[in-house]
Amino acid sequence: MRKSPIPAGNWKMHKSPSETEAFLSRFLESYGEGDAPVLFFPPAVSVPAAVRATRDRKDVGIGVQNIHWEREGAFTGELSAAMARDAGATHCLVGHSERRALFGETVEETVKKAVAALDADLQVILCVGESLDERDAGRAEAVVREQLDPVLGADAVRSAWHRLIIAYEPVWAIGTGRTASPDDAGRMHRAIRARLEEVGAGDDGPPPVLYGGSVKPGNVAELLAVDGVDGVLVGGASLDPHDFAAICTAASEAASTS
Ligand code: PEP
Repeated sequence: MRKSPIPAGNWKMHKSPSETEAFLSRFLESYGEGDAPVLFFPPAVSVPAAVRATRDRKDVGIGVQNIHWEREGAFTGELSAAMARDAGATHCLVGHSERRALFGETVEETVKKAVAALDADLQVILCVGESLDERDAGRAEAVVREQLDPVLGADAVRSAWHRLIIAYEPVWAIGTGRTASPDDAGRMHRAIRARLEEVGAGDDGPPPVLYGGSVKPGNVAELLAVDGVDGVLVGGASLDPHDFAAICTAASEAASTS
């Protein structure tokens, strides 16, 4: 039987601690405990408020959007994986396209961040995806592989395989209202899954592969129906409690009907 699809909300630089509390109280009213594990990635400063607001909900986990790979030190403005864990985070995003494009995060840095997060007992969502130019040049799969392979090659990642999640997020679909067609998403997800199976590790099968890029209540069901799509990473639509509750309900229904 298919594992429950995972809906995850990446709030980016939205929602202060008090806005986080207000959002989660509305969200938890609209979405009762379901079959899908739900994840939120608020700004780091709002993580404690999110952890407090969801402490009675076993199906909800809270993560951070970014960490530094060092444990501590003179890195003004940064946050370590151990600090995030101590604040109650259970998950960490690594390699989001905005980190890569706007903050110059390199593939080598994503490897160090993934290793540090796993060492601190966090689960990692590694984001990968091609730009429109790369897709038009026929390089979508090659680019994703260039982002994926160095992380999969790290010993610390292979020994914590069950705590790894991949998010395929075509850059041209993030925040643009353009979504990959179910066929395009399916092709890329199956290519990523094949690579994960080739690399192989652990008895639990390959890590789940989420789709991200303009997921909305209106398109989530068709994306979750695609073979190889194991959940969704949602930006814009996760900022509205009713929209995100509708997405979580669709994930929960997909879990119970498959
Ligand atoms: C994201 O930033 O991870 C994302 C998928 O954003 P959006 O849903 O707004 O496209």
